[in-house]
Amino acid sequence: MTINGGISFWYATDTTHQPPRAPLTTGTTADVAIVGGGYTGLWTAYYLKRTAPDLRVTVLEQKFCGYGASGRNGGWLYNGIAGRDRYAALHGHEAARRLQHAMNDTVTEVVDVATAESIDADIHRGGVLEVARTPAQLTRLKAFHTTERSFGETDRELYDATATRDRIDIADALGSSWTPHGARVHPLKLLRGLATACERLGVVIHESTPVTGIAPGRATTPYGTVRAPYVLRCTEGFTASLKGHRRTWLPMNSSMIVTAPLPPSVWARLNWADAPLLGDMAHAYMYAQRTADDRIAIGGRGVPYRFGSRTDNDGRTQPATIASLTTLLTTFFPVLTGTEITHAWSGVLGVPRDWCATVTLDATTGLGWAGGYVGSGVATANLAARTLRDLVLGEATALTALPWVHHRVRRWEPEPFRWLGVHALYAAYREADRRETKTRTPTTTPLARLANRVSGRS
Ligand SMILES: Cc1cc2nc3c(=O)[nH]c(=O)nc-3n(C[C@H](O)[C@H](O)[C@H](O)COP(=O)(O)OP(=O)(O)OC[C@H]3O[C@@H](n4cnc5c(N)ncnc54)[C@H](O)[C@@H]3O)c2cc1C
Repeated sequence: MTINGGISFWYATDTTHQPPRAPLTTGTTADVAIVGGGYTGLWTAYYLKRTAPDLRVTVLEQKFCGYGASGRNGGWLYNGIAGRDRYAALHGHEAARRLQHAMNDTVTEVVDVATAESIDADIHRGGVLEVARTPAQLTRLKAFHTTERSFGETDRELYDATATRDRIDIADALGSSWTPHGARVHPLKLLRGLATACERLGVVIHESTPVTGIAPGRATTPYGTVRAPYVLRCTEGFTASLKGHRRTWLPMNSSMIVTAPLPPSVWARLNWADAPLLGDMAHAYMYAQRTADDRIAIGGRGVPYRFGSRTDNDGRTQPATIASLTTLLTTFFPVLTGTEITHAWSGVLGVPRDWCATVTLDATTGLGWAGGYVGSGVATANLAARTLRDLVLGEATALTALPWVHHRVRRWEPEPFRWLGVHALYAAYREADRRETKTRTPTTTPLARLANRVSGRS
């Protein structure tokens, strides 16, 4: 029997039972008001308070900290950032290389802060293994590997089929690329430890406090207004529900399932010993981790988008998505056929029209935001937060000079074109994956290339 929803597996099995934080009860003032209690909002609060202890920083969270993607994700703390290649095209290769270096450092930064703040988030630094299982995927993998190295990742390694099986025994694996810049985390433990660290520094966090309006100098809630010279929007996949932002970032679904704990005999057959994170080169790609309690948590797209930018109902996902993720799991690992799937859930990520993450502060209005991370926000939110800190403090630093700062993008199309476009896009990706598997062609199908061009994804 699979438990579907309940926010996420990470919540459903949480034993810390943190009591809810009090909502805002009256109007108040702060130096910085932050909307959203996910990684972006909390890391920003953390770094602001750590750097400028006298600042009054208030976080307003509509439900509870970690309600969003930060409490539901796949726990890939890694160096990927949405839009790097586009930033290279816009600002030059060297600027994008600096951005990539900053991301590599960010993985270490998160691990270091977790240690310094005694956050036990099941962190294991096993890197990321990305695998190709069709000839077309192998061609893309080799190109990807070369590109990543050109952005300074000279410590990345390319494996053939045999060497891949030595890392993880995946059915039909033809090759893989491994980077050391990745760590497995328990997303919710990281989030909760971070929220506690913020409070230790004096950050005020109000939960059950939905912000209904953001304007220069104020964040409005049903219980009162927080007046602050800086108001930062850190609402990622939920941004569309804010007035005036329906078409800013598209709330894209990602869904996950997790197995029951697997016995040592199965792990021995999977040969998944050093716990690297696992991804693939399919167009509708998957991501997985070996959890600290010896399960496999695996995620993928499922139903990509709900009409009118609606979000899910507390993490429930469609039965068809559970079935397709289960099939994916057993395609990778046939030995797991019949293994119990204990939990399934989904969440939303924020996707900008050009698929580029951004961080911005308008110094004249004091309004700022960060996000649009697509599926790579666990580490990126930390880099965004340190950058927002520097912007708020008015300091020109190496971080504020990175090419994703102050990037602007056009809005998504209105409905029904938005819904039709996203569903057509993922239908095309699924069909392209199917064709590449069936035909064994070594080149990416024209259908996927077209989908990439039309969508703005590449
Ligand atoms: C299933 C899934 C798997 C993923 N896996 C990975 C992964 O393995 N690695 C990776 O790098 N990234 C992954 N991501 C993406 C990553 O989790 C996110 O990019 C990241 O958590 C975003 O953090 P955030 O704080 O910006 O947004 P969120 O965590 O979504 O936080 C936004 C918060 O704002 C609150 N909020 C929204 N509107 C309001 C309002 N009006 N008033 C007050 N509060 C409001 C929400 O309740 C929420 O708590 C995944 C995402 C999903 C959904």
